[in-house]
Formats: sequence, structure tokens, C-alpha cells
Amino acid sequence: MAKQFETIALVGIGLIGSSIAREIKDKGLAGSVVVSSRSDATLKRAEELGLGDRYTTSAAEAVKDADLVVVSVPVGASGAVAAEIAANLKPGAIVTDVGSTKGSVITQMAPHIPEGVHFIPGHPIAGTEYSGPDAGFIGLFKGRWCILTPLPDTDEAAKAKLRTFWETLGSMVDDMDPEHHDKVLAIVSHLPHIIAYNIVGTADDLEAVTESEVIKYSASGFRDFTRLAASDPTMWRDVCLHNKDAILEMLARFSEDLAYLQRAIRWGDGEKLFDLFTRTRAIRRSIVQAGQDTDMADFGRHAMDQK
Ligand code: NAP
Repeated sequence: MAKQFETIALVGIGLIGSSIAREIKDKGLAGSVVVSSRSDATLKRAEELGLGDRYTTSAAEAVKDADLVVVSVPVGASGAVAAEIAANLKPGAIVTDVGSTKGSVITQMAPHIPEGVHFIPGHPIAGTEYSGPDAGFIGLFKGRWCILTPLPDTDEAAKAKLRTFWETLGSMVDDMDPEHHDKVLAIVSHLPHIIAYNIVGTADDLEAVTESEVIKYSASGFRDFTRLAASDPTMWRDVCLHNKDAILEMLARFSEDLAYLQRAIRWGDGEKLFDLFTRTRAIRRSIVQAGQDTDMADFGRHAMDQK
């Protein structure tokens, strides 16, 4: 595939950064890749995995000659990273990020980005519950959406370049207003994770049911929540703190709807329960039809059955 950028700097090389690195190398999208991570341990591991051409713990150093800078750190750290790299950004460079919240990232990063540098925030809707450079893999973004939330004065040519980059990684790309992004993600991603953290926490706190029973009988539903609840604590702490308003709004709606369900159960209103469960089953079918999951009944457990 053709080279798209002379030099790409990857600031943060965990699950997302290292998946991007693997794709760049695999597809030959850059003349050279500079990898940066704040800790020696992560950087050393990135080097062992051969994720870049140059390695440094200094984000400022990493971005010096870069035409594309991809910031893949927890959203709470994005302001400090922007402040650190600002003075070294090359005129005409594109700076993007992959953070799960967009309003807060823009508030934190935009003031630091110098005139003549194109700041185009982004968010690939793809991930797993694993973190760090070993967790990344080729194909993570394939068939998944990547949302760009460009600022009003964004250069169209720069945006088109970034769009092509994500498309080459296998993504479909949408543009969205940052505030709307944060509302949509609050319901499709943030709320499900919070509910999962909560339900697993509740099970852990129960006195009447032992932990060994919860684990032993988990295949009845509980284990599906534990995958989400195993997600990175730092990342999810930051998501909760940085999309506070939209999450609280969705949690309020969720609590109202839960009360409705609770009432239907209390009053033995089978019709209400059946109607809701029928409606939700149709959503699952739509997700499978849209190619965002498979219809395998035991998705993710197939390999276990083969053992
Ligand atoms: P990760 O695997 O935990 O990697 C995080 C990277 O950020 C590491 O290089 C880490 O460096 C660095 N980092 C951590 N704290 C930092 C700080 N305070 N200052 C500077 N660098 C710091 O994380 P990830 O899953 O790739 O997530 C990265 C971003 O992608 C997050 O903003 C997240 O919201 C977003 N995202 C995640 C997913 C997902 O499913 N995981 C999906 C879409 C978007 P050291 O290891 O050297 O400390």
C-alpha cells in the first residue's frame, strides 16, 4: 500500500496505539514511526515488539518531525500531553487522538495547538478489555466505525487525509459534533461499562451468595458483564470524570426505566415484561445485521468448547 505520511508519531502505545502501529507497519503507511510512552517499561516492550523505528519517553521529542501525531493516552492526560508537545509540532502537521470522550479532550488540547497545525479529534469505536502494547493487534479497526469530531474551522484537505488513514486501517468514518458524540457514546459504551462495573461490584459485596458460587455459575449471564467490568480502571475512571454530564443524564434515564421494570415485576405485569424483552431482542438482531457482532450463540466461547 502507498505511504501516506513521511513520519508518524504515536504518543501512547497501549492497546489502541500499538494496534495503530501494527497497521502502519503492515500496510507501509509511513516512512518512519516514532513511538513514545511515558514509562521505560512500556517503551522497552514496544521496542521488543518492533512497533516503531525510533523510541523515546519524551512526547515532545517524538513529535518533532511528525506529519501525523496520534495521541493514545487516557483522556485525563490529553491536556498535559498537548502542553508538552505544542512547541515542537511541525507547521502543517495533523494532530489527532483516540480518546473515548471528545468535548473534554477538545477543551484540554485545543488551546495548546499552535496556529498552522491541524487538530482533528477522533475516536475509533473498537477495543477490548486488555491494555498495554501486547494487547494490540492487526484487524482491531476492521469493519468498525471511527468518529471524527472536527472543529468548525478544520482544513478539509487535512480531514480527508485523516479519513483516508482510518479507512486504510479498515474503519468506516463518520463526522460528528463533539457534544453529540459524547451523548451517543454515553449510552452505547459508557453506561454499559458502568452497569457492568456495578453489577460485578454488587455480586462481590453479597453476603448470602459466596464468591465461589458467583464464579461457578457465572455462565448463566454474569460472565458477559465481567468482560466489560475487566476493562482498564484508569481509562474508565477518566471516561466517567470527563463525560460527566452526558453519563449522569443517561444514568437518570436508566434509573427511571429500571424503576418501570421493577414495578412490572412487582405487579406481575407479564405483558409489559414480554413487550420490552421482544423490543430489545430486535435491537440485537439489528446489530448482527449491521455486522457489528456475529450471530454465533457462543461468541467468544467457541475455543473453550474445542479444548
Ligand atoms: P492503554 O493500553 O492502557 O495504554 C495507555 C497508554 O497511555 C500507554 O502508553 C501509557 O503509558 C500512556 N499513559 C497512561 N497514563 C498516562 C499519563 N498520565 N500521561 C501520559 N501517558 C499516559 O490504553 P488504551 O486502551 O490504548 O487507551 C488509550 C486511549 O484510547 C484512551 O483515551 C481510551 O479512552 C481510548 N480508547 C480505548 C478503547 C479501548 O477499548 N481500550 C477503545 C477506543 C478508544 P505507560 O504504559 O508508559 O504508562
